[in-house]
Amino acid sequence: MAAISGALFKPLSSSGDQKISVFRQCNYIPQKMGSFQPHNYVGSQCRSLRSFTSSGVRAQVAIVEQPSIEVAQNVEASVAIVTGASRGIGKATALALGKAGCKVLINYARSSKEAEEVAKEVEACGGQALTFGGDVSQEADVESMMKAAIDAWGTVDILVNNAGITRDGLLMRMKRAQWQDVIDLNLTGVYLCTQAAAKIMMKKKKGRIINITSVVGLIGNAGQANYSAAKAGVIGLTKSVAKEYGSRGINVNAIAPGFIASDMTAKLGEDIEKKLLNAIPLGRYGQPEEVAGLIEFLALHPAASYITGQVLTIDGGMVM
Ligand code: NAP
Repeated sequence: MAAISGALFKPLSSSGDQKISVFRQCNYIPQKMGSFQPHNYVGSQCRSLRSFTSSGVRAQVAIVEQPSIEVAQNVEASVAIVTGASRGIGKATALALGKAGCKVLINYARSSKEAEEVAKEVEACGGQALTFGGDVSQEADVESMMKAAIDAWGTVDILVNNAGITRDGLLMRMKRAQWQDVIDLNLTGVYLCTQAAAKIMMKKKKGRIINITSVVGLIGNAGQANYSAAKAGVIGLTKSVAKEYGSRGINVNAIAPGFIASDMTAKLGEDIEKKLLNAIPLGRYGQPEEVAGLIEFLALHPAASYITGQVLTIDGGMVM
């Protein structure tokens, strides 16, 4: 059944256990966008091969026009899907993209109330939002999520594969279920969403995919063999997919956060926290908004259009 909270939510459709709400609506006002323009913003237009006659010689030139407000006003808002956007880094990302003028699908697994609050916040800053409850480790849910975005907004321009869990334990005691749950969501979920979104992006020859990995995917971590393996897998997947889809205009990058203040790190305990902070040159946890800023850059900034297949760490200097 569709999850509806308050008069502002209008159910779109529902299938199985997935919960979809559309958050209506607000006008997209390009001038109110944050520091970044959507990546489909046409910054400068090149009118090539304009012919003219000069001194009896027919010449062909390319005229590069400067960006104009007129052009920006005609641009459609980018459609973004953020998985696991009810809390933490995903929530901060949905808000950043919403504030920048994107139409944002906010995916969650269980926290429908929190997801709807995120949607309200996006709307309050002038964006459009849709909430979708579904498990992104399940192919059917991923298909329904893509369909929800297409039905509402016609396309998908940006995918942020953020949903993730931990099931920590030393390898010698790690149960098969602990291993499988983490691999299923943190790695297979990224594969499923990327494959489904890339199919849509290919048609427009344009798209940006940002995968949230972790520094432990680069350096490992005792007690996190499952999580580190999944995150290292995401790095390999990112680079391979970047090579496959570069010619289709799709940029694929990974972000590897260090320790970021969220529900995931809140359960670490004081002792571990103390040790961790000693290993971080900047001497503090990162904030979800700091990671969201980097995601926003990769998703929307024109300068990021020449970055693909990279892993950017954001960790206070922990890994260098
Ligand atoms: P978080 O606060 O625990 O939030 C996790 C999000 O994932 C929630 O929105 C949750 O939805 C969603 N989720 C869980 N299972 C899901 C499923 N099966 N399908 C769809 N969504 C699901 O996590 P976070 O700390 O913000 O981390 C976000 C990402 O950054 C993760 O990939 C994590 O591995 C990575 N990361 C985090 C840190 C850190 O220090 N926090 C460091 C490195 C990397 P519900 O609320 O509905 O459960």
